[in-house]
Parts: sequence; C-alpha cells; structure tokens
Amino acid sequence: MHSKITLPLLAIIWLFFSSLANAEPLRVFVSIPPVETFVERVGGKYVDTQSMVGTGENPHTYTPSHKQIRDLTKASIYISAGIPFEDAWMNRIRSANPGMKVIDTTDIHDKTEHDKTEHDIHTWTNPLQAKLIAHKIRDALISIDPSNKQIYLHNYKVFAAELDLLNQDIIAIFRGKSNRKFMVFHPVWGHFADHYGLTQIAIEHEEKDPGARTLVGLIKLAKDEGIRVIFIQPQLNRKFAEQIAEAIEGQVISIDPLSADYINNLYTVAQQLSEAMR
Ligand SMILES: [Zn+2]
Repeated sequence: MHSKITLPLLAIIWLFFSSLANAEPLRVFVSIPPVETFVERVGGKYVDTQSMVGTGENPHTYTPSHKQIRDLTKASIYISAGIPFEDAWMNRIRSANPGMKVIDTTDIHDKTEHDKTEHDIHTWTNPLQAKLIAHKIRDALISIDPSNKQIYLHNYKVFAAELDLLNQDIIAIFRGKSNRKFMVFHPVWGHFADHYGLTQIAIEHEEKDPGARTLVGLIKLAKDEGIRVIFIQPQLNRKFAEQIAEAIEGQVISIDPLSADYINNLYTVAQQLSEAMR
C-alpha cells in the first residue's frame, strides 16, 4: 500500500528537481527592444534576454554602460541589428566574451535602397523581415541548445504564423488608399513603406536637422501632397515636426518603431498611418 503511493511521489519529486537542474536559461543580448521580443517568442522560458538600448533610448546616440559590458561576459548569444553603436563597439563586445555566439541580422533585408546615399538599418519594421530575423534566432538557439530543438521549432512556427497574419492585415489596412505618402521626422519606416507600397518623406536627412530652407520646402511639399499629419517617434525631438504641422494646420502623432510589443504596435502604426492618408 505504502509503496504504491511512494513510487509515483518519488517520480514526481525526481522530475521536479531534474527540471530545476535544466532550468538555467540561455542568456541572450540584443541591441533593441523589438528583437528582444523576437528572442523571447522563439526561446520562451529557455532564454533570459536583455536589450542594450532600453525603451525610450535613442539607438543612434546610445553607448553601452560599463555594467552592460560586464553583463555581456555571461551571455551565450549576442544578436546584432546593425545599430550605430555596434559598429564602434562590436570588437569590445566580442572581446568581453570571446566564447559568445554573435548573430548578425543586418544582412536579412531585401536589396531595395530607399535613399541612394544611405543604407537603411531599420529592417525590423517590415514584419516579413522580422520573420527572417526570428528564423536566424531560432537556428542560433538550436545550435547552442539542441536539446530543446523541438520547442524552438514550434515556437518559431507559431510566431511566424502571427507575423504572416499581421502582414496580411496591414496589406488590408492600406488597400484602396490612393494617397500613400506620409511625412516623418526620422526615416525609420523605409522597409515598412517599401513593403506596403507607401512613400516615406523624411524631415531629417542623414541624421541632420533640417535648415530653414529645407523646412520651407517640406512645408510646401506637405501642402502639395495633402499631408495633414507629421509623424515622430518618442525617442526623438519633435520641434521640427511641430513647426511643419503648425504651418500646414496639421497634427503631430507619435509612432514607436522600437516598441517591445511588436505585433500590437505595428497594428497601431498601420492604423495611424492609414488614417493620416485620407
Ligand atoms: Zn533610426
């Protein structure tokens, strides 16, 4: 009688402790919050993810802290997104932890150039490119932790299906729009715009603020194109957007390219852009 109770109980206790033994998650570092979400979606409870650039910080001016460089020594994987600080810091990041696997996601984008003089690093704003980044993350996790391969394959599949649905829904949101132009301070939506057949007009050029003459030109362009909304992002200066909005009697709306709530945020972004394109 006793043994019938004790044996299954022992088995449960053993399973509990053996699961604890395997519970140490992989430490993954990424550069920006959306990619943190991609890692969490694919890795689930088997990853502990940290973003170098925090919510609300500007990736174009960010530099890593001493603490972050120290924490990097404990990381298994670093996922780079081609953010400016990475160009300057990648050697130091690598030498902080030579055993760390470094995954580069900057080569995933389609070959379209948005601006002939400038390479657009903001690849994750196109959900199908987000899917390619997630696929790279999946393969990296499998190569470091093959024992959980089936879980990573499954999690990726679920997330990829959500991104496909998001893509279809965004196509539907913009269907039938004849004026497909929008004005934005920092040209962060180039990959998004290309993919959905929209035209992004940037106020900032090569990360420089516009001069007085450029502003006058932008105001005229906005009037000619029937633009009524100037988009900004929460990390950056809204002064120039406000000047243009005032001149065209339009409004300034903030949309976030760096939200960690990737899917819900892109629905909101698509809705906001679409409503501005009357
Ligand atoms: Zn940017």
